[in-house]
Amino acid sequence: MGSASINEYRHEKASPDLIERLHSRVSIRLSGQGINGFRELLRRRLRENRNLAISLSLCMGCGACLTVCPAYLATHNIKNSPLGRIALARSLVRGSINENSINEAYTYFWQCLTCRRCAWACPFGVDVADISRTIRSLLYEIGLAPNYVAGVINNLESMGNFLGLPEDVIKEVILSVVDQIKHEKGVNVKVKVNEPAYAMLLPSACADYTVAVNTLKGYILLLNELGIDFTLSTRVPDITNYGLFMDERHMRLIAERIVEESRRLGVKLVIAGECGHGWRVFKNYVVPRLKEYGIEGTHILYIAADAIRRGLIKLDALVNGDLTYMYMDPCHYARGGDLVKEPRFILSNTVMRYAELNDKPN
Ligand code: SF4
Ligand code: SF4
Repeated sequence: MGSASINEYRHEKASPDLIERLHSRVSIRLSGQGINGFRELLRRRLRENRNLAISLSLCMGCGACLTVCPAYLATHNIKNSPLGRIALARSLVRGSINENSINEAYTYFWQCLTCRRCAWACPFGVDVADISRTIRSLLYEIGLAPNYVAGVINNLESMGNFLGLPEDVIKEVILSVVDQIKHEKGVNVKVKVNEPAYAMLLPSACADYTVAVNTLKGYILLLNELGIDFTLSTRVPDITNYGLFMDERHMRLIAERIVEESRRLGVKLVIAGECGHGWRVFKNYVVPRLKEYGIEGTHILYIAADAIRRGLIKLDALVNGDLTYMYMDPCHYARGGDLVKEPRFILSNTVMRYAELNDKPN
């Protein structure tokens, strides 16, 4: 895809039916004012969130964020940059609002990756990801959201998982993974499904139960090796939380399912599996909520790193070949979830040669 077509790209919009279904779950009522009501919604949000208002006024247009914004580097379109998004947000507060400006907002705020690289580079720490998430939430409030994101949120809220898989399919996948481990590794692993246990494992349904099932095998093998009594839930098998991208009311609704299921199963610990944005929500929202009920939350990478440090598992770096490996920080792990050292520690113990991006060659 050339940069011109990326620039013009606008996500297909969700149908009014789907939007209405989502609105009703978080008690949003369309005012009937449509785009005319947008400015009042935005001004109200700025009054409620002073950080956001300060960010919008702080930007002095220095451009330091341009060299780090992946969306800008890919498109070379100033509207698709932190600076451009701030200018657009300011015009929504003060300029004229019409169908064009709303469409422009829909296009460019939904092209922001919410990676927070701009906040890291900006001398004032202006976090454009927060501005993007706010504008998206208000666009959603007036009825505009990408079909894909709204569909995933609907699946998570109605079926408990990203893909909208029925519970018996999830259970079949888990049982089949247990069989595969026995066949491939000759190991009989113990996996509880929907039963009380010490811990609940929370993988990502879009990957770990489907295209990246080896990851799920890895979690199961590791927890068995460490003797941790754990369960998987078919009701809440998913750490994915697309509410983060669109609207915090949905983010909380989806996240509360984890809290509710952890209490129902009586676990003492919830273990997050692989998923960058899922971890960001889990660490910053779910863990404090779990603590209110005396339940702890952690990431599988903390458990793996601890097991390596204490010599509880043996690793054979030779199986990963005579190559040099490098770890690139995913946006939400690093800048949203403070998970920086453990992946490096694990990788450097799993391969023959490990390097950081800026290391000088020997
Ligand atoms: S959050 Fe990422 S994609 Fe969005 S404006 Fe900032 S650097 Fe660009
Ligand atoms: S680095 Fe900060 S102040 Fe400079 S243009 Fe970007 S957001 Fe504005």
